[in-house]
Amino acid sequence: MLARGARYISAAPYQRAVGYTGVKCSLCGERAVVRVAYAGVHLCEKHFSSYFEQRFLETVRLFRMLERGERVAVAVSGGKDSLTLLYLMAKHADRLGVEVAAVLVDEGIRGYREEKARAAEAYAREWGVELFTKAFREEFGFTLDEAVSALMLDGLRYKPCTVCGVFRRYLLNRAALELGADKLATAHNLDDEAQAFLMNAVQANLPSIAREGPRSERVHEKLVPRVKPFYFIPEKEVLTYALLHGIESPQVECPYIVYSLRHPLRRWLNEVAERDPGVKHKIIALKNSLTPFLERGGPFRSCRACGMPSSGEICKACQLRRYVEDLLANR
Ligand code: SF4
Repeated sequence: MLARGARYISAAPYQRAVGYTGVKCSLCGERAVVRVAYAGVHLCEKHFSSYFEQRFLETVRLFRMLERGERVAVAVSGGKDSLTLLYLMAKHADRLGVEVAAVLVDEGIRGYREEKARAAEAYAREWGVELFTKAFREEFGFTLDEAVSALMLDGLRYKPCTVCGVFRRYLLNRAALELGADKLATAHNLDDEAQAFLMNAVQANLPSIAREGPRSERVHEKLVPRVKPFYFIPEKEVLTYALLHGIESPQVECPYIVYSLRHPLRRWLNEVAERDPGVKHKIIALKNSLTPFLERGGPFRSCRACGMPSSGEICKACQLRRYVEDLLANR
């Protein structure tokens, strides 16, 4: 059954786009819409959707991501991955016995965030989920655009994605806390996780490798545990599911993505996956076998400035905030 108000569209455009018009589903012989290369099967619309949803539900159960009676804040950006997660959480909320809310962070990226936020608001309304927004401007006094123009004057000592990521994680956690959420669900998929591993590996950031996983624990009273139900699902499958279920997102890209190390790593990893479809799963398997031998960092304490969780005296968000405020004041 589809979530309230969701549209179910024909798979024909996808079939035409990928040239699957003559290929049969490995399970029922109907027309296939997708090839799951690492599993060596082709699937029709019905079997792919069911396979995808089962993987989502199994990941939630296997890693005990959610308990009955819990409140879950779903982090939405307005991109297809997070909208798909919100759709599935709303669809399966009763089955999982959870209450679902959505949280969005408005960084203040002109020409990008407004468009994505509008999509998130429209879908949340359509699926009957309450959406809460936190904005950089209101919380920190500046937008990401303003912060980046100041960072440029200082030779980009911190990259836009670093600043954005620290502030966004901070505000998502604050929003989840204020909502009384027991868990914060994010739409990180297999590709995101494999890219994150490579980024941490080239930066020799071993504690981050150790900390990243399908779920985190409550290591501080003010840190809402995170869960990632798409942890083992490739991005391509999330996008296929979104397409098949009419979940659309504005075709706009963040202007700061070009500064990110993730950008070239993502391209490279996708090229490798063309030849070795299982490479992303192998990277995650490698990460999971390394993790028990790595130091996780910590313990967490409370930031002296804001009281939120921190690995040092002052949390990263407060440090960066002061740095950007100084830059803006001295322009
Ligand atoms: Fe933020 Fe970087 Fe993502 Fe843009 S690409 S939204 S700056 S993390």
